[in-house]
Amino acid sequence: MNLIKHYINGKKVEGGDRRGNVFNPAIGEVASEVILGNKEVVENAISISKRVLTEWREITPAKRANIMFNYKKLLEDNANEIAELVSVEHGKTIEDAKGSLQRGIEVVEFACGIPNLLKGEFSNQVGSGIDTFSLKQPLGICAGITPFNFPVMIPLWMFPLATACGNAFLLKPSERDPSSSIKLVELYEQAGAPKGLVNVVNGDKEVVDCILENKDIAAVSFVGSSKVASYIYQKSASFNKRVQALGSAKNHMVIMPDADIDQAADALIGAAYGSAGERCMAISVAVAVGDVADKLISNIEPKINNIKVGPYNDQKSDMGPVVSKEAFDRINNLISSGTKEGADLIIDGRGIKLQGYENGYFIGPCLFDKVKKNMKIYNEEIFGPVLSIVRSSNYEEALNLVKDNVYGNGCSIFTRDGDTARNFSNEANIGMVGVNIPIPVPVAYFSFGGWKNSIFGGHNAYGMDAIRFYTNVKTVTSKWPQGVRQGAEFKMPTLGWYEA
Ligand code: NAD
Repeated sequence: MNLIKHYINGKKVEGGDRRGNVFNPAIGEVASEVILGNKEVVENAISISKRVLTEWREITPAKRANIMFNYKKLLEDNANEIAELVSVEHGKTIEDAKGSLQRGIEVVEFACGIPNLLKGEFSNQVGSGIDTFSLKQPLGICAGITPFNFPVMIPLWMFPLATACGNAFLLKPSERDPSSSIKLVELYEQAGAPKGLVNVVNGDKEVVDCILENKDIAAVSFVGSSKVASYIYQKSASFNKRVQALGSAKNHMVIMPDADIDQAADALIGAAYGSAGERCMAISVAVAVGDVADKLISNIEPKINNIKVGPYNDQKSDMGPVVSKEAFDRINNLISSGTKEGADLIIDGRGIKLQGYENGYFIGPCLFDKVKKNMKIYNEEIFGPVLSIVRSSNYEEALNLVKDNVYGNGCSIFTRDGDTARNFSNEANIGMVGVNIPIPVPVAYFSFGGWKNSIFGGHNAYGMDAIRFYTNVKTVTSKWPQGVRQGAEFKMPTLGWYEA
């Protein structure tokens, strides 16, 4: 049995008595075991980071940028191998895995501009003979806790920017698909990052709690479910850590009567069923406004029936299995609840069996119509290939659905009317909004993040928000003596102090 270890100081090491199973979801069998770490392993990784940090902080931003350029090239050159590592443990198709890697590489590309991104501000003569400047300095050791659904993209949102800012990093990947993160760090070291600057400690809640409680870790970046995100946020705060915690989603796509239905239909099915719906920006609710629903359904139904479900390595597969037996059971139960609560299951993807993959966790695309606000399938994040259509009589009702939802990650509107689109963009209380774009994931030089229960903490992922998150601002006010010494001052300075 393949054993996935930790990756500390440039070496694969053991540590911890417990093991977790890593499945190949296409065949439903254990592919590897992963070591689940403990406090000792976390502390060992931290002691190494501390040592490496003293030299890393002295490395100029220009040199760090150089490493990033090398890293970008290495990630591109190793894309096939990385995608294979993702797909075999996650189940998504190879092309989809490559696409997610590409999104991560774009963050590395952004990090190549680190000398510019770290530039501070300078004001000459804030008072006579006095100048003020600000610096962005690293926090020290930062940690990242990542979900199963993007095992390379999300770690790449974090450690390249954290380390480019001058920090060391401890990564705790999802225990369901940890292999690709180790490959990412091996390549980072090959690109020139010192060994031990980024360490990978595998594990579950036990390791997460050690990270949150560790006094040497200054900041925690988390991406995962809202329940855990809220826990991470509260516990990190009680240990005085800076925290960004991105959570779950229920993304709506509003289709107006004037929309180009063909365009909306294609966009909708890609956004709903790509990666088997296991994307935090997947569209899980289509809000059909006015008379759109019947037209939309007759357009998407044959297209959905044509979606090919299969193993990751079949080039014809449009979507693979879901990640685990647990996810498979949870999604099937939610589908049953939808039928019990009275929604119309127009396309039922349950019970599909693929020859040679009979025990795989495959669920075909499912389509519900006439979903209501009080149903479980509407209120819970399904995180599987299940799309719900909610019929809405007008725009205001559709907008209110978006606004009333507890989650606020992404949403989109399909319309030809600029006024409606502008109103929607302004009024939706959602972090990422698409206009005739189904999955409005911002490019790497903007920032990614939701609102409401989709985020806890004041910073988004990547972009300038990440630079702010991974640095402390220091503002220096300086005056050089010009011969006359003024002696000590005991009262609070007034405005005139600067003029002295
Ligand atoms: P998860 O919350 O179960 O796990 C995420 C991480 O937290 C993992 O590393 C896991 O080991 C750890 N963890 C799990 N339970 C824990 C606990 N009780 N205490 C401490 N740590 C714990 O999420 P997942 O199933 O891996 O990922 C899917 C979820 O992530 C979905 O809800 C999805 O919407 C969300 N997600 C959000 C974004 C975003 O950017 N907002 C991106 C991707 C995924």
